[in-house]
Amino acid sequence: MNGCVFCKIVKKEIPAKEVYRDGEIVAFRDINPKAPVHILVIPVKHLEDLSKAGPKDRELLGKLLYSVKEIAAGAGLEKSGYKLISNNGIGSGQLVFHLHFHILGGWQKKPEWQV
Ligand code: 5GP
Ligand code: ZN
Repeated sequence: MNGCVFCKIVKKEIPAKEVYRDGEIVAFRDINPKAPVHILVIPVKHLEDLSKAGPKDRELLGKLLYSVKEIAAGAGLEKSGYKLISNNGIGSGQLVFHLHFHILGGWQKKPEWQV
């Protein structure tokens, strides 16, 4: 979609530190990481957010979630664990309106509440 920064990354019109790409999914490092490991996983298809997905996107959504698991493992997070976040809509703080999952991890210590 015109003007969409993630569509530009898909089309390689702007650079990104890619960690995975196939015909339907691209994953790359967040430009402003909020964790030691911060990867964004997006569909090639421009969907503004999850609410815009329709029944025909069910298979794609399954692939996206499965690719999250594999990309997280590839980034060395399988054992240590990671957070998975997807902001949906203005009220969530979403800034880029192209569906994406944030994989966040790589902290050395467990959070204090997790003893
Ligand atoms: P949102 O708030 O929409 O869920 O998060 C969008 C994320 O995209 C932010 O964490 C932001 O740092 C990241 N981001 C925005 N523009 C770019 C870019 O051009 N390249 C990369 N790699 N990440 C971006
Ligand atoms: Zn887009």
